[in-house]
Parts: sequence; structure tokens; C-alpha cells
Amino acid sequence: MRISVPKLYREFASVFGQAGYRCYFVGGAVRDAILGGLPDDWDAATDARPEDVRRLFRSVIPTGIQHGTVTVLWRGTHVETTTFRVEGRYQDGRRPLDVRFTDELVDDLSRRDFTINGMAVDPDSGEVIDPHGGLADLKAGIIRAIGDPLERFAEDGLRCMRAVRFAARLGFSLDPATQTAIPERLSVFQKVSAERVRDELSKILLSGRPALGLGLLESTGLLPLILPELSACRGVGQGGPHRFDVLDHVVASCQAAEPELVQRLSALLHDLGKPACRVEGADGGLAFHGHDTESARLSEAALKRLKYPNDVVNAVVTLVRNHMFDYRPDWTDAAVRRFVNRVGMENVLPLARLRLADLSGVRGEPADPRVVLPLVDRVNELKAKDQAFTLRDLAIGGDELARLGWPKGPVMGRVLAELLDTVLDDPGLNTRERLTSVAQNLKGKYGIE
Ligand code: ATP
Ligand code: MG
Repeated sequence: MRISVPKLYREFASVFGQAGYRCYFVGGAVRDAILGGLPDDWDAATDARPEDVRRLFRSVIPTGIQHGTVTVLWRGTHVETTTFRVEGRYQDGRRPLDVRFTDELVDDLSRRDFTINGMAVDPDSGEVIDPHGGLADLKAGIIRAIGDPLERFAEDGLRCMRAVRFAARLGFSLDPATQTAIPERLSVFQKVSAERVRDELSKILLSGRPALGLGLLESTGLLPLILPELSACRGVGQGGPHRFDVLDHVVASCQAAEPELVQRLSALLHDLGKPACRVEGADGGLAFHGHDTESARLSEAALKRLKYPNDVVNAVVTLVRNHMFDYRPDWTDAAVRRFVNRVGMENVLPLARLRLADLSGVRGEPADPRVVLPLVDRVNELKAKDQAFTLRDLAIGGDELARLGWPKGPVMGRVLAELLDTVLDDPGLNTRERLTSVAQNLKGKYGIE
């Protein structure tokens, strides 16, 4: 098997050759190039020691020098360059305590996680070096640990989740021995830091097949350790038009959601509150009152536990809290303005998208976008007419009210809310003159002279 390495990288490797070192490209780029993709990052492996690499190039950043990795700035790109190494003892199933450099490429390939990630390419000949049968597994669509999976997962518990991630990305299945090793190593997985788990989860959700990944997380026992709130949705029936229990529904919604982190997370978490809010009526009907608020609360706790950054947490929680709306063409303009006022202009489109994903997850069939997207068009039309949606859009503000004799404080807040309410109903009233007179008329009600 031969693949072609881009010229830029071949020339990078030739710098090593001229100095008497060897340089190969390894790992993900080799895998993706064999699959026919165009990798953007080609990671290099060499027998040159980090200090030798620093002498060979002008700009070298010591990104992970204690593990033998440096980043070389090369003609406008970055090349991660790692000295051939084997890993020493592992501490607690997390990271190796020490690494040992080696002169053998094959030793370096053997420390890698899966056969499809354990290949290298000789940049001059294009020949693929494949000591672990990665080519055959790529062809067969199999994720297989290099060596004994029980040992490999004991060394680093994150590999359990990486196996699922590559399956979800590539549409592969797990080799049976690799798959059955995961449930045996859950106690090692539990020692992995939240940040590393978070990054793998995001990659699974952003892959082409989050449903496949989530299914594997569940069947291997990883899911309850990552998101116990989701596992609690298994078996919670929903009735009505729903074909699925709550877990299969949110997984189908996540699969239908746009491949963007906040959308995928929101779709996955939007019904977390349903198990706690489920009430069976006397007639046998099911209700989940308040599940939007409860889902928002549980989503926030779960995302914080997974150490997602605040902007992601806030965006997801806002979408989850507001996901329950049923747009119909007969909504009045006032209803549309009130909706915008409640959810915030910036959330209209993301909410419409989430709603579509949610509807698609009801029966596992794509929902008709015409059910929801006209709401976005109507909001845009009203916005184009410069209509008011929030206090900031009112023709008069607190300062004018103060000049009209209103005292600053809570009463001012209440009258402004009333003015906004008036304007949401009838945008024609949003002029300084009209609002001044509405405010004058309200003085009696608030006991203002
Ligand atoms: P991606 O396109 O997602 O970056 P990748 O294969 O490059 O895919 P990385 O996580 O960037 O994945 O890792 C690069 C390579 O390093 C892998 O292909 C694998 O050979 C090796 N590797 C990474 N993490 C581990 C790990 N935890 N255990 C063993 N080998 C690993
Ligand atoms: Mg990579």
C-alpha cells in the first residue's frame, strides 16, 4: 500500500534525512489518507531527540517536550514532531509516569492505541508501514486495540472512550475482544480527568454518527459514568406520538441536530428532567409539566461537572430551558414579539433548529422544516420593521420617566415593563409622544402625583 504525502511534508521530512535522521508520518493522517481523506495535520515521528529537532529548525515550540513532542513551524504550518518512544509505567490508568526514547519506529507504533492508528508512512516512497494489521482493520471497518485490550485499557482509561469515538466517526464496529474489555476497565476509566472525557464526548457528538457512539457508550457501561442523568432516561415511556422512550428520543434528536457543539449538546440534554417530572393521569395519559426547567437545571449541573466552559453551559441551558414552544402559523405578531422577548433575539434561530431536531426525534424521521422555520422568517420581518422586542427598544427610557416625575426604583421597573407590554401588543404606540401619554395615564395606578 502506498499513499502520497503532500510536498510540503515531504520537504519537511527531507530536513531530517539530510541530517542523518529518519522521519515518518504517523497516526491519524495515515489512517485518514488511506480512507481517501485529505488530512490537515500530518504528525511526524523521528529518531531525532527533541534537542536535535530544535537545532534543525528555526522555530520550534517545546509543546510537550517531557513526552518528546515539539511543534515545528514549517512554511506557514505547524508540524507536531515526536521522538520515537515507548511509554514507561502508568500511574493509575491516567498518563505514563515516564517515557523512554527508542530508535525503532515499530516500538513507537506499538504504544499507540488502535491498529488503525498504529501505521506510519515513509514520506519518500509513500510506503505504509503496518506492523499491527491496521490496513486490514481499516478495510473491514474494525476498531481493534493493539495488543491485549485489557492491558491497553488498564494503562489509559480514556482509550475506552477513544474506541467509541473512532467507531462513531468512521462508522466502524468494535472488535469483540476490544468491546468486551471496556466493561472490565470501567474503574480505570473513572480515574480519567473530566477535561479529557469532555473532549472525547464532544468529538463523539460532533461525529457523523453520535447515535452509534451513544449506543456504544451505553452498551459498554460508560454512559452512566459520563452522564448518569441520561442513563436514567432509559425505559421512561412518553406516550402520545412518541415512538421512543426518553433516551432513544434524545439520542435520535442529537443525531438529527446540526453538527455544532451547542446544538448537539442541547438536543442530547433537552429532556433530562422528564424522568423526574413524569406524571400519569387518571386517564392513563402522561404529562411532564415543568420538565423544561428541570432539564435546564440538570443540564447545567452535568455540563459543569464535565468542565465545559461557561459560554457553552449558558448557551445550552438557555436553549434547553426554552425548548418547549409550539409555533403555529396562526400566532399573532404580538405572540411572535412576546416569544422573542422571552427567549432573546439571538436564541431564535438556535431554538428553531433545536425544535426541529426534537421533532425529528419523536419518530426518528426528519421533521418538516416548514413547521418551524416560518417563525424565524416572521421574526426577521418584524425586526426589519424596527419593532420593539425588549426594554432597550422602547422609545422612552428611565431618564425620560424620571423627568416626567417617576421616582427611580422598583416602580420605574414596573412601569417600563407595562410600557413594553403595551408596545409588544401594538408597535404603533412605540413613539416618545404616545408612550409619554401612556405613562402619564399610569401615574394614578401607582399613586404618583
Ligand atoms: P484526530 O483526527 O481526531 O486528531 P488522531 O488519530 O490524530 O485523530 P489524536 O488524538 O490526535 O488522534 O492522536 C494522534 C495519534 O496518537 C493517534 O492516532 C494514536 O496513534 C496516538 N494516540 C493518541 N492518544 C492516544 C492514547 N490515549 N493512547 C495511545 N495512543 C494514542
Ligand atoms: Mg490528531
